[in-house]
Amino acid sequence: MDESSLEVLTALQAIRLASQLCQSVRGHLTRNQSIQKSDRSPVTIADYGSQAIICKLIRDAFPEDIIIAEEDSSELRKGDHAEILEHVRDYVSEIFPGTSSDEVCSWIDLSTHTIKSRFWALDPIDGTKGFLRGDQYAIALALIENGRIELGLMGCPNLYLTPGQRHEKRGCLFFALRGKGSFQFNLEGKERRTLSVSTISRPEDASFTESVEPDHADHETHVRVAKRLGMVLPPIKMDSQAKYGIVARGEATFYLRVPASTEPEYKEKVWDHAAGVIIAEEAGGKVTDLHGQPLDFSCGITLERNEGILVSNGILHEVVLKALEI
Ligand code: AMP
Ligand code: MG
Repeated sequence: MDESSLEVLTALQAIRLASQLCQSVRGHLTRNQSIQKSDRSPVTIADYGSQAIICKLIRDAFPEDIIIAEEDSSELRKGDHAEILEHVRDYVSEIFPGTSSDEVCSWIDLSTHTIKSRFWALDPIDGTKGFLRGDQYAIALALIENGRIELGLMGCPNLYLTPGQRHEKRGCLFFALRGKGSFQFNLEGKERRTLSVSTISRPEDASFTESVEPDHADHETHVRVAKRLGMVLPPIKMDSQAKYGIVARGEATFYLRVPASTEPEYKEKVWDHAAGVIIAEEAGGKVTDLHGQPLDFSCGITLERNEGILVSNGILHEVVLKALEI
């Protein structure tokens, strides 16, 4: 596979169009209403719309391929959600004019939860809480063949393009191909940059990133590990797989995800990690679970055989794993 392969062209187009839809939903929100955290309808509309568009484009190009994605249309088809379905159809129609509500539902339902040797993993909006807050979220898509991630893309419409420059231009598209490197573009597909992880080798100089949500990772353990390592910088709290992106571009030295004590049995979902993993690895990073084991993408929709996640610049990987053991 290379950059002119149909897989790559299809995935790039899908991520860009879905990012456009998500930005459009988000834009209407900021103009017309304040966002209530409890009102999930905007994220629902964007989730369904993003999944419909991406599934349709993949199925048109690869009729035999399967897609595992987070949503299905069962709730959307219920009468009391008719208004939401209308909104989803209207947003999808801005991209594919004349789309019907039935088509929207059937495109969403192209997704299955049973994997084959080759499958696409899709999170139509990763970081839904970030989306609602006006923070980070990602549209994440990966292609996995025989347990190996071959291609990964992330649209991050609200992520600043230049590391650390939070007040500058936003909208990043991350892209990685196995053996070919990891890249960042703007959402128009321009301003291409080759990504590489940080070269920091002293833990005291390192920075790390973690979830915003305390229910998704054990922040207290993260702070203890950072202290043990003699780190001084505060954690970069960020929603979604954008965390993999900021490790890939050297902005954070590592990303730590120790399972939250409130839900120790939680198993990570494939679509929450696959795209990010290849983007970090192809930028020179290393990704394992907390026991130093590679993530196993051949088990189904969850990372059944892994516990927690560490994404690093490689140089500090063993040092962080050791600090976790104590
Ligand atoms: P983040 O933005 O990194 O906090 O990750 C968001 C993702 O965390 C969502 O897509 C959820 O699928 C996932 N998630 C939900 N509950 C948990 C949990 N208890 N532990 C870890 N991840 C979770
Ligand atoms: Mg997610």
